[in-house]
Amino acid sequence: MDDGSLFYDVAVVGGGPAGLTAAIALAQAGAGTALIARRAPYADNRTTALLGSSVDFLEAIEVWPRCRDQAAALRTMRLVDDTGRLIRAPEVKFSCEEIGLEAFGYNIENRTLVAALEQRAAELINLRRFDDEADTVTPEDSAVAVHTSGGTSLSARLVVGADGRHSLCREAAGIEVSQRELKQFALTFNISHSRPHHNVSTEFHTPEGPCVFVPLPGDRSSVVWVASPKQAERLMAFSDEELSEAAERQSHSILGRVTVQAGRNLFPLAIERPRQFARKRIVLVGEAAHVIPPIGAQGLNMGLRDAADVADIVREVLGANHDPGAPAALLRYDFKRRADVMSRTFAIDLANRSLLSDLLPMQSLRAAGMHLLGSIGPLRRLAMREGLAPSWRSSRSNNPPRKEIPAALFKVAFSRGDFPAWPAIQAERKVN
Ligand SMILES: Cc1cc2nc3c(=O)[nH]c(=O)nc-3n(C[C@H](O)[C@H](O)[C@H](O)COP(=O)(O)OP(=O)(O)OC[C@H]3O[C@@H](n4cnc5c(N)ncnc54)[C@H](O)[C@@H]3O)c2cc1C
Repeated sequence: MDDGSLFYDVAVVGGGPAGLTAAIALAQAGAGTALIARRAPYADNRTTALLGSSVDFLEAIEVWPRCRDQAAALRTMRLVDDTGRLIRAPEVKFSCEEIGLEAFGYNIENRTLVAALEQRAAELINLRRFDDEADTVTPEDSAVAVHTSGGTSLSARLVVGADGRHSLCREAAGIEVSQRELKQFALTFNISHSRPHHNVSTEFHTPEGPCVFVPLPGDRSSVVWVASPKQAERLMAFSDEELSEAAERQSHSILGRVTVQAGRNLFPLAIERPRQFARKRIVLVGEAAHVIPPIGAQGLNMGLRDAADVADIVREVLGANHDPGAPAALLRYDFKRRADVMSRTFAIDLANRSLLSDLLPMQSLRAAGMHLLGSIGPLRRLAMREGLAPSWRSSRSNNPPRKEIPAALFKVAFSRGDFPAWPAIQAERKVN
């Protein structure tokens, strides 16, 4: 690619972890790639539990070696019912050895991961960075035109919308999204503690949502505390000493004396699902394509699978000298992402609802489910494997269903993001 050229195979809009990863993977796949993303320090203290294949993928794009020393292995996941309700679920422990793994994954601070991604992105000669933001994105017949607020105009045969929750690219593609604001917030902060975590991540299920303590290197952990807006704001306003005490109480002192470290952030939670993952030469990745509550550490792991899938498709399409923004390529992307994103969104929504429900039958069902997971080995192992990545993913074809899955059945199950019998669906707002 001529470095001065403003016509690209692919333009990625947005430089969060999903966009940076997509840009690197696309450039590594041989695409002339533009990345339109402001260079700014990562703004919050979130951490990501990178599960299974996410680490392999980051290894393949030469990012993982740059940051693995700053990540903590996750070897055991504990779920503890801390609802104090009459019907409580038994504690469930998942151990990576049970499925023959050294670790389920690794927990890393997002700012560390993003720094490693930035470093790798700067090395690729066919990846050109515009330190800018997209002002307009206009799909045309043979390309998408992008104008930036700094006055640059460029075009690409395919645009990757990695521009987060309020995606301009999604709007430009005319993709509708279902949104449901949850009456929950997530408070994030990091702690140091007097007892070692032994690489155990512990999730306490409270009546307002889960509170998770996830290992970081050394005697440190990251905390994601999901609570009602009122409770979350109360916690946010606490002094460091008060929050340290509250976290120690919430953790039942399993980590000993807790000391809150500087910095905390509050995130309003929502579920967002687009009706399509690709349209008009634009594909969506990361939070432009899915927003879910932080339960089971799925959000960015899905975002990395979005990035891997778009790069795989573009590599093949360019290899065959075809157009990466043509309808056939978009259909393949939509097909690849739909089942993964929709099934996980459904499962996480269900898990969250069952925790919040005041209905005794729902609480009993949840307790029974947890009991089965705890006591039936094959079921527990299946849940562990599925939690890491969809098992069908490696064997599934890249192509939309033909004979093996009847199209009508596929449509009923996942068509345009509508799950059958999902009770809240009517309550969701449809926005563009
Ligand atoms: C409390 C919490 C805990 C979480 N924990 C986990 C976890 O353990 N594991 C996990 O897998 N996931 C987790 N997630 C989810 C994960 O954090 C998100 O999926 C991920 O950060 C989204 O990354 P992104 O790149 O898609 O979006 P963002 O980080 O929002 O990036 C979007 C970028 O696009 C830029 N942008 C927007 N508009 C434009 C424009 N017009 N032009 C150029 N740039 C633009 C923005 O400035 C931003 O930099 C968690 C989420 C929360 C809230």
